[in-house]
Amino acid sequence: MKDFIKLLLISVLTVLWLSVATAKIASNNVKLSDAPVQGYIAPAPPTGADFLKPKETVVGFLQRHGASKSLAQSLWKLPKSKQRLLTDVQTSQPIVCYKSNKKFKSCHIVAGKSLISVVRLGDQLSVEKKALDVTKSIDYGEINIKTSIFQDGRKKGYDAQLLNEINTALRSVLQDGKLVRKGDRVEFLFERKRMDHGVEMLGHVVDVLYTGTKQKIHLTRYSGKSKNFYDESGRSATISFIKYPVHFSHISSPFSKGRKHPVYGIVKPHHGVDLAAKMKTRIKVTAPGKVTYAGVKGGYGNTIIVQHDGDYKTLYAHMHHFAKNIKVGSYVHAGDLIGYVGSTGVSTGPHVHYEIRKHNTPIDPVNSILPRLSKLGPQELKIHKQEQAKWDMLRLSFSDSV
Ligand SMILES: [Zn+2]
Repeated sequence: MKDFIKLLLISVLTVLWLSVATAKIASNNVKLSDAPVQGYIAPAPPTGADFLKPKETVVGFLQRHGASKSLAQSLWKLPKSKQRLLTDVQTSQPIVCYKSNKKFKSCHIVAGKSLISVVRLGDQLSVEKKALDVTKSIDYGEINIKTSIFQDGRKKGYDAQLLNEINTALRSVLQDGKLVRKGDRVEFLFERKRMDHGVEMLGHVVDVLYTGTKQKIHLTRYSGKSKNFYDESGRSATISFIKYPVHFSHISSPFSKGRKHPVYGIVKPHHGVDLAAKMKTRIKVTAPGKVTYAGVKGGYGNTIIVQHDGDYKTLYAHMHHFAKNIKVGSYVHAGDLIGYVGSTGVSTGPHVHYEIRKHNTPIDPVNSILPRLSKLGPQELKIHKQEQAKWDMLRLSFSDSV
C-alpha cells in the first residue's frame, strides 16, 4: 500500500513538473540568433547586443543606432541624476537597441543586476533604471557532427559560449583525446533569461548528452555548491588542476622532449615548464593531494612533490623556502601555499620548475588536457541522479515534438 501511494505521488509530481516545464517554454526549437562573441564571459550577452566602442559616448552610440543628433543630444537636457546613469557605461556592458519604422525607439543597457533604459518619447529621451526582471527557462539544442561541435554548432546558429561550455565539459571525458567523430550527436539543455523590453540573455548549459559511435556520455551540471558537470556515476568532468602554481611573468623554458640545457649546454629533455617570477612569490599546489617529498633534490634545489589521485604527481623545484607546516605527509588542497619562488639548485634565475607526471611519465603542464578527479559523495550522487532523470524527461519532451 505504501508503495502504491509513493508511486501515485511520484506520478502526480512528474505530471505537475512536466506541465510547469512545458508551460515555461514558449516554443521548442527556437532559432538562436548569433550573439556577438565576446570571449568567454558568462553569461552570454543578450541576443543582438552591441557595445560602446572605445572612446565612444552614449550620445554617439545612440546616433549609431538611428537617433538623430538632436534627439541624442536631448540627453543633456535631462536632470543630472538621470545623466549620471549613463556616465559610467563601460565598453564591456551589452546594450540592446530597437527601432520602429527605421527610427530610434529604445536602447537598454545591462548594468549588473539592473537595466538602464533610454526610451524615445516624441522628440525627447527618457532614462530609467530598473532592477532586472528575469524569467528563466530551459531550451534545447542539438548538433549532428560533421566536423566539430563548435563549427557545426555555429553553423546552426548556436552561441559560441554555449558551444565552448559543451566542449569544455566533454573534453576531459572523451577518452584519449579521441574527440568527436562524424556522425556523433550532441543534445544539450541550456538556460535562457528573458528580461524587460524583450531583452534576452543566454545562461549556462545544464545538461549534455553525447551519443557517439564508441561512447555515450551524459553530463549534468550539479545544482549544489559545485556547479561542475558530473557523469552518471558522479565523476567530475571538470578539469581539477589549477593551471599554474605561481603568478609568473613569462615561461622562460617550455616543456620539451629535447632542449639545450641552459647551464650544461647539452641536449636534455625538459620534463617541466619554467615559470619565471619574482623572488619569494607565493607558490600554490595545483591539485589536492599528499606531500611525498619536501627537501633538497640535487639540481632541483628545494623541491616539493605532491601525489594526487589517479596516479598523478606534481613537482615544484628551485624554491627559496617552503611554507610553514608543509612536510612529508601533509595533505594539501588545490591553491594551498606550499613555498616561495627561489633559485636554489642548478638555476639561472628565480623561477618555478613545474612538472606533472602521470604514472611517472612527464606530461606538458601547459598543453595537456588534465583529468577529472573529484567524485560526488553518496548524498550528492542521489540528488545528481534525480537531476539527470529530470533533464532526461525534459530532453525527450523536446525531441519527441520535433
Ligand atoms: Zn626547468
